[in-house]
Amino acid sequence: MLKSLFLSALLITQSLATPVSLAETNALGKRTTAGTIYTKCTQSGVLGMAFDDGPGQYMQQLITTLNNAGAKATFFVTGTLYGCIYNRKTWVQAAIAGGHQIGSHTWSHPSNFGSLTSAQLTTEMQKLETALFNIIGKKPTYMRPPYLATGGAVQSTMGSLGYRIITDDLDSGDWNGYTQAQSQAVFNAASTSGGGHITLMHETIQSTVTQLVPWVLSWAQSRGLKVVTVAQCLGDSNPYVSGSGNGATTC
Ligand SMILES: [Zn+2]
Repeated sequence: MLKSLFLSALLITQSLATPVSLAETNALGKRTTAGTIYTKCTQSGVLGMAFDDGPGQYMQQLITTLNNAGAKATFFVTGTLYGCIYNRKTWVQAAIAGGHQIGSHTWSHPSNFGSLTSAQLTTEMQKLETALFNIIGKKPTYMRPPYLATGGAVQSTMGSLGYRIITDDLDSGDWNGYTQAQSQAVFNAASTSGGGHITLMHETIQSTVTQLVPWVLSWAQSRGLKVVTVAQCLGDSNPYVSGSGNGATTC
């Protein structure tokens, strides 16, 4: 009886809410799980746009482009890869203000991430968490491993630290020196039915920001895809944990 009442309430809630928002989809139980590797979206009709390696020198320009298009994206940021994150903290804050997602790409982007011990992995994650508490007042529950390294102790450690592990199923190849034509061919070859794609792109590459992103935004629009954050494309409306930092302002 209780169960059927609950189900009726759910159905009423569902029918009143048209269209069902991503947040409500989350409330209906499609939550993500720490320690799980996600390569593509669980929602359809979306493109999960994600950038690695920032905050880089083009981040503010990228945020403006996305905002002007009404698009959302996920920024997997590091602490020190392209300079100290505190030096670009206003851009990280601008990303949050624009409704974009901040995820972790580790503190120092170790080239041997998949070979680190659990203690070393924990240090990499917690140093960035502290900085993000200081900068945006919360820490992410999503991360993308450097070089997409998910082996060794990565999965179990990220699970115990509360992180969803994101890879991709649509590699723009920008990190690999792809031309615009080559990157565009990857998108044009991608199916746009079923669960959306999670992209691998780099905000630290100028042509990605100035050429590829505007092209991808119109590509998505022409195919009726909404450009969203990785968390949104997985039906998760709150990809953070709140907390307080230590007041540091330098790396
Ligand atoms: Zn990276």
